[in-house]
Amino acid sequence: MTVFSATVHAATRVPAVRRLVTAAAGRGLVERFVAGESTDSALAAVRTLAADGRLATLDHLGEHVTDPARVAATVRAYLDLLAGVGDLPAEVSVKLSALGPRPFDAAAEICAAADRAGTTVTVDMEDSSTVDDTLAVVGRLREEFPRVGAVVQAALHRTEADCRALAGSRVRLVKGAYAEPAAIAHQHPSEVRAAYARCLDILMAGSGHPMIGTHDPRLIQRALGYGRAADTFELQMLYGVRVDEQRRLAAAGHRMRVYVPYGADWYAYFARRLAERPANLGFLLRSLVKG
Ligand code: FAD
Repeated sequence: MTVFSATVHAATRVPAVRRLVTAAAGRGLVERFVAGESTDSALAAVRTLAADGRLATLDHLGEHVTDPARVAATVRAYLDLLAGVGDLPAEVSVKLSALGPRPFDAAAEICAAADRAGTTVTVDMEDSSTVDDTLAVVGRLREEFPRVGAVVQAALHRTEADCRALAGSRVRLVKGAYAEPAAIAHQHPSEVRAAYARCLDILMAGSGHPMIGTHDPRLIQRALGYGRAADTFELQMLYGVRVDEQRRLAAAGHRMRVYVPYGADWYAYFARRLAERPANLGFLLRSLVKG
């Protein structure tokens, strides 16, 4: 985690900053990263991706939800979405913290709906305090739905061991989007990249289905160098990030899946995208100044 990222992470939690960012949101930058607020707008985005051979994983935005009514609304949103997916090449991604303090039953309901729709679920990974519980829920879900995907974050020191344990299954490898302390996580971008490469070596040597979630050209190049058959792994990127590269990789015959977030609760997701890249914060500041 760079000083820039840590500072932006902290600033975006300040209520006045949240109000400013939300005010600027109507001006285009949020739409670059978030596929609208409704099921229809999310499915329209998937159709656009599918037109040039890109796959999707759809995320109904929301996290840290405790109100049972909001949990029920989130489950309904996923069920609606999955009822509309039809033949589109889409799976869904779910954050357990959107499903309340005991998320298993709600997650299982979403997995069952995905199964009926002929697709599956990947369970996102949130901050480091949640890793053990999240992997435990994924393990229980897999007893009934073996295709459920896990996510591991290369930045965490523990993750090489997690990769060894999970290498026979569907696993999305990412760098990690949360600010974590040095005692448990690599801090410098070059250390995170090296850790990612080591995790990639483990997953790509395994019998599972690695999902390589990164925009980092060197890591994508490395992933393509293992010589695995195209249908045994996939590359994944975020909606609105390196779109030309997404199209190029899909056109070259690689499985390229795009993470498509949608919904009204976009702030925390958007704040993480700002923290990742100074240029994104620059766009936002310019739109604020233009008023
Ligand atoms: P970076 O070094 O950050 O980026 C490499 C290059 O990509 C940059 O130089 C830039 O050109 C481009 N780029 C990267 N980010 C941006 C951006 N925001 N805007 C514009 N350009 C950019 N994290 C979690 O902690 N848990 C999850 O469950 C999770 N799921 C994810 C799912 C997918 C499909 C992807 C792609 C990422 C996910 N992430 C998740 C986020 C991830 O942890 C990183 O924060 C994010 O992908 C940026 O890291 P990077 O590997 O792309 O490398």
